[in-house]
Amino acid sequence: MANDEFTRAMAYANSAISMLKRGEIPPYPQFYELFYTYATGVNPSLNERINAILGEGMPGMEIIESLFNEFLKSEAVDERINVVSELISKNIGSVHSAIHSASETAKHYSGSLHKATKELDDGISSEDLKILAKSLLEKTRNMQETNQALEKRLDEAGEEVQGLKQTLEEVQRQSMTDSLTKVYNRKFFDQTIDKKIAESRETGENMCLVMTDIDHFKNFNDTFGHQTGDQVLRLVAMTLKSNTKGRDLVCRYGGEEFVIILPNTTLEGAVIISDKIRKAIQAKELLKRSTNEKLGRITASFGVAQLSEKDTATTLIERADTALYSAKRNGRNRVLAENDKLVVTPTAA
Ligand code: GH3
Ligand code: MG
Ligand code: MG
Repeated sequence: MANDEFTRAMAYANSAISMLKRGEIPPYPQFYELFYTYATGVNPSLNERINAILGEGMPGMEIIESLFNEFLKSEAVDERINVVSELISKNIGSVHSAIHSASETAKHYSGSLHKATKELDDGISSEDLKILAKSLLEKTRNMQETNQALEKRLDEAGEEVQGLKQTLEEVQRQSMTDSLTKVYNRKFFDQTIDKKIAESRETGENMCLVMTDIDHFKNFNDTFGHQTGDQVLRLVAMTLKSNTKGRDLVCRYGGEEFVIILPNTTLEGAVIISDKIRKAIQAKELLKRSTNEKLGRITASFGVAQLSEKDTATTLIERADTALYSAKRNGRNRVLAENDKLVVTPTAA
């Protein structure tokens, strides 16, 4: 068993190393990890993307780096969350021990006062009274110092916790964001879709899902290169964001495919929004930043589905996906609703 595991892991390692050699990519841990993960096949969307890229030849370091950031860096986010949690836990521990020591001092002080009251009740010589007063004064000073130290420690802890809270919020935001396009990532979508479906059922509001995919994007990449393709992905994501609002959620579903959750929206409404986006994408004349070279235009196809009573996230996604596939088959650059109910074609634009 252990031997099997060794053989399997060695095969993955060899495959990763040979890919790195082939691309003359230095075997830095993150690049090795990327190709090791690829060899295991545990991350199908990573493999799909690498396969698409390999079709265009061996990618350079820049692409490998961006793939690592996109697919594997979320583990670095988990790592950061661990560090923050550890700091919070240490902080709580140190505040706890400051409170404990202050409370011990207070207990001790209260004991001393109690004892002094008893001595005074029993009668005391003026000499002993002096000694008692001196000792009580010292204990009071001691108590004050401990309280001041505790106050200072609590103030510091308050500031530290505030800083940690901000770091945690930033890490959280990062873990939900697609690093290339800055819209929500697939992980966020997977974690959110069920919640949105439940919310829509609770409120009785309609809800729609729009799947969109850039047309002939492979050709675009082949013609103008992957880096320019990346710029286009950013532009499409921005267009999706700027044509949606409020509670709408735009997520990168994978590669050149995006998904939009539209709460409180009917199928007709979702088709109208999708067509507005379709036109906005089509209207953009693409220019290469570095040279101002004209790159023409791109289009995208859309599939829209409305949540039904019986739907699960899977069946809703499937219907939007099927509509998208029909939009592609019917000539691309168009919006198609589930069951061919509503179609908006470029000629109708
Ligand atoms: P269709 O109209 O049928 O969707 O054709 P297509 O060429 O867009 O579809 P296909 O699935 O054949 O190819 C998708 C391409 O998207 C493959 C790959 O070159 C490109 N792609 C996927 N992810 C990225 C990315 O992160 N950056 C860039 N630049 N290209 C990507
Ligand atoms: Mg496509
Ligand atoms: Mg696609």
